[in-house]
Amino acid sequence: MSRKYIIANWKMNMSLSEALQWLKDVEENFPEGVDGAVCPPFVYIRDLVKEARKLKVGAQNVSWAEKGAYTGEVAAYMLKDVGADLVIIGHSERRKYFNETNQDISKKITLAVKNGLEVVLCVGETLEQRQAGKVEEVVRTQLREGLDGVPPETWEKLTIAYEPVWAIGTGVPCKPEDAIKVIEFIRAELKDIAGNKGKGIRVLYGGSIKPDNFEEFLKVGVDGGLVGGASLKADSFIQLLRLGAKYSS
Ligand code: PEP
Repeated sequence: MSRKYIIANWKMNMSLSEALQWLKDVEENFPEGVDGAVCPPFVYIRDLVKEARKLKVGAQNVSWAEKGAYTGEVAAYMLKDVGADLVIIGHSERRKYFNETNQDISKKITLAVKNGLEVVLCVGETLEQRQAGKVEEVVRTQLREGLDGVPPETWEKLTIAYEPVWAIGTGVPCKPEDAIKVIEFIRAELKDIAGNKGKGIRVLYGGSIKPDNFEEFLKVGVDGGLVGGASLKADSFIQLLRLGAKYSS
């Protein structure tokens, strides 16, 4: 896949008026030839869906339950119903603060794809795991357990984001040459698990991406970026989209 994919993860930020202004600015400056998405907090999804023409709109999480007595949760069919295109699943902040397991994640992915949503599955190691030489072991387990039971015919709905936990929100990105090694490993694993169906899946990098370092990642062959902090300002997200467009074909 040579069309780059740049996804904004706003986390728990932005007011409604800021969100709508951001969308207007990004849509007006959206470059040709690149795929872009924004994942706001749940409560803004419907407002953004109504206005978005070029960007896809998605959620940052979804319930592992289909529906019912799960106070505070949001179901995959509800996201689809309000027009969401995608959902981020297994972000390290959800794994860390909300104790999400790979088993929860595989249930979430299964329900999301069943309801026609694209899924961005996040994987990545902590600093301790990297220092202990366990990057491949950790990423392999997250991929294999997270994708366990996900029907192979839905794999075209998947994107993977390699996000080393120690690089998220720290201002210290992974070295591009280290990131691409793990991304190549992920590509090989996907091919091993899903054969040809795993081949077209885009593997993004995420972790302290900024307009002044993103090109280095594109140069080594990442399929795009999952962006937190640098996605909050329309200007910097537009710059990232332009870089993505430059490296798309
Ligand atoms: C993220 O939250 O997925 C992320 C990569 O954040 P940041 O860009 O702020 O490191």
